[in-house]
Amino acid sequence: MMKRKSLRCSVILTLLFVLVCTGASSAAEKPKIGVLIFDYANNYVSYIRNSINQVGGDSAEILMVDAQNDQARQVEQVDTVISRGVDALAVNAVSPEAAPTIIEKARAADLPIVFFNRSPSKEDMLSYEKCWYVGTTPYDSGRLSSEMAMAAFKADPKYDKNRDGVLQYLIIKGTPGHPDAEARTLAVQETFEKAGFKAELLDVQTGNFRTADAKDVMDAWIGKFGDKIEMVLANNDAMLLGCVESLKGEGYLTPGKPCGLIGINALPEVLPMIEDGTVLGSILSDAYSEGKNIFTMCFNSATGKDVLTGVNGQLDDMKAIRVPYIPIDKGNIPTAQEVYRYALGQ
Ligand code: CA
Repeated sequence: MMKRKSLRCSVILTLLFVLVCTGASSAAEKPKIGVLIFDYANNYVSYIRNSINQVGGDSAEILMVDAQNDQARQVEQVDTVISRGVDALAVNAVSPEAAPTIIEKARAADLPIVFFNRSPSKEDMLSYEKCWYVGTTPYDSGRLSSEMAMAAFKADPKYDKNRDGVLQYLIIKGTPGHPDAEARTLAVQETFEKAGFKAELLDVQTGNFRTADAKDVMDAWIGKFGDKIEMVLANNDAMLLGCVESLKGEGYLTPGKPCGLIGINALPEVLPMIEDGTVLGSILSDAYSEGKNIFTMCFNSATGKDVLTGVNGQLDDMKAIRVPYIPIDKGNIPTAQEVYRYALGQ
């Protein structure tokens, strides 16, 4: 009797031991990654969030938090996720000026950190060995949108409405001072100049990256320039949507009243407009590749691998991986749909 009881005890103990060991080893295999997002309400960043979860959900424990556009809250969240034992941090800073504070916290805990979407300064990036950045080169999106404009103007005579061989165009700019707004607006003009392309900039106005503001600007432009307008280049698609609304309301975007429209982002809601010819095209920011790189670099650094294992591209002089933009027009809409299929988790 005693013997059987002790046997049963030892079986139970062995089972417990196995369970504890299995639990411990699987926890050790799955790194914990803290992902700090500046604002869940931001559309583009939500595609990056989905991509991180899609790519990493099975191989890591992901602790994702929303700073609701509040930098003080985000700094507290850094402390919270560190206290929960994360092995790496991915940070979409509310404000790039907070980067030194966040880097010091990561350094104190000896944690690798991958910033994304909002870039810290080069000086901050180089201040900590285990710090990297994933983003884009904003200038390129402006350059690619003006290359698309030049190609369309040369290919289709309907855009040169006054037949003077010069493109009369408008730029609807994002929020003044925002690095994307400044770089994209400058790139459009410089690309035309460098190519020796004849273009006349009728006006630049800000639409603050917002649809409603852009519609008001476009309404005023139609009143002022009317049929002189041959193309509108928008710093983002949200503003492009405002321009579409305004132009349609005034009877434009019909065979008799064409107007070339080019955006940046290639948002899902703009793709049908590219398909039916309302919009010439847009420059896709590849949220899926950004999310994939962010997760992969966190995972690699948390598990002692080379940080770039499985990552396309090279680090630049501020330890950043730049994901290339992809111009989307009628000919390659499935490329954008594929990016969103992954980014939306469909
Ligand atoms: Ca013209």
